[in-house]
Amino acid sequence: MVRPLLLTPGPLTVSDRVRAALNRDWGARDTDFIAMTGRVRHELLAIAQTTAEDAVAIPLQGPGTQAVEAMMASFAPRDTPTIVAINGAYGHRMVDMLRRLGRPCIAVEGPETRALDPDQIMQALDEHPQAATLAVVQCETTTGCLNPMDAIADLARLRGLTLLVDAMSAFGALPTRMQARGIVAVAASSNKCLQGVPGLGLVIARHEALQKAVNPLPLSLDLAGQAGGFAAAGEWRFTPPTHVVAALAEAMDELRDEGGPEARLSRYTKNAACLINGMAELGFEPVLSSADQAPIIVTFALPEARPFDFKAFYDALKTRGFVIYPGKLTAQDSFRIGCIGNITPDDIARFLDTFRSVMEAG
Ligand SMILES: *Cc1c(COP(=O)(O)O)cnc(C)c1O
Repeated sequence: MVRPLLLTPGPLTVSDRVRAALNRDWGARDTDFIAMTGRVRHELLAIAQTTAEDAVAIPLQGPGTQAVEAMMASFAPRDTPTIVAINGAYGHRMVDMLRRLGRPCIAVEGPETRALDPDQIMQALDEHPQAATLAVVQCETTTGCLNPMDAIADLARLRGLTLLVDAMSAFGALPTRMQARGIVAVAASSNKCLQGVPGLGLVIARHEALQKAVNPLPLSLDLAGQAGGFAAAGEWRFTPPTHVVAALAEAMDELRDEGGPEARLSRYTKNAACLINGMAELGFEPVLSSADQAPIIVTFALPEARPFDFKAFYDALKTRGFVIYPGKLTAQDSFRIGCIGNITPDDIARFLDTFRSVMEAG
């Protein structure tokens, strides 16, 4: 069996080193496991670029979506609206969460194929001066679009807003700058740029906000409750995904060995450049402008002039060991190729050779 290389936004290809960390059992109350949890939580603060004085890292069993939902449930007020700036599916998902929670919410939607426009958000704030919270996605994985976090953070500071960030596909590579940007809470995952295995959502939240969190909340979304468990005895409230935690601990050591998020971002940037150049030679252009393109995942438009059967192509690539991703754009047929995970420009070069030979065969 060929071991597939996942060129997707998660789950993604992990290293043998991370996979090997899954290969032992841990008891939830084992002191070594408790120490490991503490270490992971501490290092998450450093990756978020904040400190233990300011914030706390709260891992939550489940998918990344659940971490975003717990963040929204805890910090989107019941009495004043939350503005959600949207340029893709994950922005829409935050609105869906707020509606289900019965929280007042204002959706500010821009085009999917462009970065969020701070002026448009400012205009919405002028129209809704009672809004006290702003929620954004750092890298909109729908397209791979990088949103202008510094400008958005400046705007939130200027207006005294609580800033909530879905950093799922950015965390571990693109800088979070939680303290410098005055971000109140960030949601991330064990998978994606941290290169652990999926199964753990992560929220990093300021102490101050956590003390004032909305309550009561559904038990499993209660971030303050989960944080309280860790604060009391370092233990998880419910059965921890022990193997996933062990893999994340190993993945964080691996991140440090690579040189930290900056070095990881530099590898992803090389992957993306190699991918975009190679695909251009084959006649495929990215949907985003290079200024808006994050080196996380690249969306390519299906060429209109040439018939292209994505399903057949996908299957042919999969047989040859590469898994790509269908598009998620609403207005245009497209497909996506990820640049993240334990992959290098050499892997991308091999992928491009395979892509070319499948094209020539088809
Ligand atoms: C992947 C992703 C999520 C959801 O994570 P799941 O683990 O699939 O629930 C949320 N937001 C963004 C921006 C993502 O890329």
